[in-house]
Amino acid sequence: MWQDVLSTLFPKRCIGCETIIPSSQLFLCERCTCNLPFAHLPLNKENFLYEKIDPTAKIEAASSLLFFKKDTLSQKLIHHLKYKNRPELGEWLAKIWFEQNRHNSALAEIESVIPVPIHSKRLKKRNYNQVSLCGRKLASLLNCEYDETTLIRIHHLESQTQSGKYERMNRMKNAFQRTNQEVKHYLLVDDVFTTGATLSSCTKELTKVEGSKVSIFALATTE
Ligand SMILES: [Zn+2]
Repeated sequence: MWQDVLSTLFPKRCIGCETIIPSSQLFLCERCTCNLPFAHLPLNKENFLYEKIDPTAKIEAASSLLFFKKDTLSQKLIHHLKYKNRPELGEWLAKIWFEQNRHNSALAEIESVIPVPIHSKRLKKRNYNQVSLCGRKLASLLNCEYDETTLIRIHHLESQTQSGKYERMNRMKNAFQRTNQEVKHYLLVDDVFTTGATLSSCTKELTKVEGSKVSIFALATTE
């Protein structure tokens, strides 16, 4: 009964257009679900994400689920994931990505899923790493390990949205550190791919251990 009262007082709304949705719908109304801007970039070397990564970082493959544009549905989703305490959105998007890539042989190579780490100061402020649930879900779907300890963030950087590619790359250098010498093929997971500086930096650190390989996945990417 309380559930009914609550859902009458606070009906569930679509994250995209804010219309009221039935409680059975997860995050979006049917119309917004149909309008999800899929990037159709399966995990491989044949896409612009792969090209954008610093070539000295040597990734194996790259993929993204959605195109990220300002003032669109994808921005709203990422905003809720990051700042509105909705990390379960990442879990849902991870499942969609897995379904789209299910027959891709590159997935079978992955041995461990690592979220791009956030600094402990930011973790304290936000209470969660926005891609943790996404990473955990992927690890369970890929039947492999989920690992939040091999890569840590040692430098806290302020908001970087205003800085250019080279400035970001410089600031990102040495922001991450490996904590062990395990040799694995890692799937590195981030929320938004913009310049690729963060993912390049993480990859360089992970591949410092000879034999380690890195593929990358971002929930959304700029075009
Ligand atoms: Zn909607």
